[in-house]
Amino acid sequence: MTRAASPETQSIIRDNWLRVSAQVSEACVDCSRDPSTVKIVGVAKYVDAALTAQLVQAGCSIIGENRPQLLWEKHQWFLDQGLEMPLWHMIGHMQRNKLRRTLPMLNMLQSVDNWRLAEELSAEAVRAGRKISFLVDVNLTQDATKTGMMRDELLRVSEQLVQLPNLIWRGLMAMSSLQADSATISGEFSQVRELRDQLQQRLGDSVDLSELSMGMSGDYRQAIEQGSTCVRIGTSLWVGVI
Ligand SMILES: *Cc1c(COP(=O)(O)O)cnc(C)c1O
Repeated sequence: MTRAASPETQSIIRDNWLRVSAQVSEACVDCSRDPSTVKIVGVAKYVDAALTAQLVQAGCSIIGENRPQLLWEKHQWFLDQGLEMPLWHMIGHMQRNKLRRTLPMLNMLQSVDNWRLAEELSAEAVRAGRKISFLVDVNLTQDATKTGMMRDELLRVSEQLVQLPNLIWRGLMAMSSLQADSATISGEFSQVRELRDQLQQRLGDSVDLSELSMGMSGDYRQAIEQGSTCVRIGTSLWVGVI
């Protein structure tokens, strides 16, 4: 199923990576931010393991997947090929019954979208004897088609979240509304940052919520302007490949 990428494909992927990296840096400079403060997660859900490996080889060290099965397959493929592992981030809704198998491969679970998942993640991390970083996926637009915790729920459970053993809560993840105009998108990202600030103030020194995972191929500029520390770029990295 997974075949090695052709040299043409490799060079397209490398060019895409260089272009996206430059665009993200440029967006930082445009709003007087240091480009080193924004990480790029290369979202590889559109492609197979071989193409994912090409992106890693081009320089992308963090790979985002939204389905556990795909992550398992790719992780195994990287192992079989003896390739250097990227850091794997889960960015999609995670079912509790997939946690045990996924946890050993994960560097971060960006998509904790309910309290029970956090509890179970903590239990599995304790069981595995490791700590795991996570973000809370927030849904501030009350959009029923999106996953994510609503503001009130998050505020209600935040003190308990900090206390769950073996978890390191690093911040929030969010998506903007589909097809919203630029000003609306900026407003949404700004609300996410304000919620983070509010949580940080409430929780004090017990936690460091400095990570804001916001921005995709279509809205990374607004996200960076509003304080994103992690953009999740998929489509722009696979132009000419898929
Ligand atoms: C697919 C996906 C992305 C990447 O979106 P693009 O528009 O392809 O850049 C980012 N975040 C999440 C949660 C995704 O599912």
